[in-house]
Amino acid sequence: MKIDLSGKTALVTGSTSGIGHAIAKGLLAAGADVVINGRTQAKVDAVVAALGKTADKAGGKVRGVAADVSTAAGCKALVAALPDVDILINNAGIFEPKHFFDIPDEDWSRFFDINVMSGIRLSRAYMPGMLKRNWGRIVFIASESALMIPKEMIHYGMTKTAQLAVSRGLAELTRGTAVTVNSVMPGPTMSEGVETFVADLARQNGQSEQDAAAQFIKQHRPGSLIQRFASVEEIANMVIYVSSKEASATNGAALRAEGGLIQTIA
Ligand code: NAD
Repeated sequence: MKIDLSGKTALVTGSTSGIGHAIAKGLLAAGADVVINGRTQAKVDAVVAALGKTADKAGGKVRGVAADVSTAAGCKALVAALPDVDILINNAGIFEPKHFFDIPDEDWSRFFDINVMSGIRLSRAYMPGMLKRNWGRIVFIASESALMIPKEMIHYGMTKTAQLAVSRGLAELTRGTAVTVNSVMPGPTMSEGVETFVADLARQNGQSEQDAAAQFIKQHRPGSLIQRFASVEEIANMVIYVSSKEASATNGAALRAEGGLIQTIA
């Protein structure tokens, strides 16, 4: 199966690093025109310049829009600069372990604004155009933490479950059209954000980063069937598939790329 997204425009929020960057790269390689998003103009410009070759080779275009998607003003500015997209990947997100009793009110709303409201606002802006043109793909990058709420990050888990709810609800609005809305649930994935986390663990425990990563999986994700962190490309592959024309029968789904952590059959 060859995925061909030429002629489609895709926005990937939070795509200057990590999983979002791998998704943007994969969409570009599939021939899409891709819009990179991040909070700082300089970082967005650097990533756009670095991805230029991939775009040229595949025949698509890459450009960037710097905007903080956690705010209404940021989303508004993004939509003003980019009024229509065919593919919206709601990827921008934050995670920070914190004990329940130490999470202040502000953190609950801060996590909700970036991890959930960003996707709500951008779906509200872009979905009507997709429905009008009768083709579109919206993908929420959720997490295994949506279904297995981590006790050390209940606020994060809450936002990821909320993404699944919004995603499934939006899919209901696509009935009878060629627009789909799905979620992808990665498990532990070696993104830049996680590399920093693992490097801190290694420093604290006086271990190599490789040993700290292995110990983290053993201790905190013993149910993982792959017993390792996924690569960002492994997650991106599933996102690119579900964004493709070929995935036309997959709608309203919460797809797992979590290495078998979640032990239910369906
Ligand atoms: P990352 O920190 O490497 O990348 C996140 C990106 O989002 C960064 O480029 C960051 O600058 C951007 N971002 C953050 N806030 C933003 C904002 N307000 N506006 C615009 N951009 C913003 O993290 P990652 O691991 O690649 O995570 C990407 C997504 O995948 C997140 O939604 C995360 O919850 C989810 N996820 C990650 C893992 C994992 O283990 N890495 C597992 C499950 C789910």
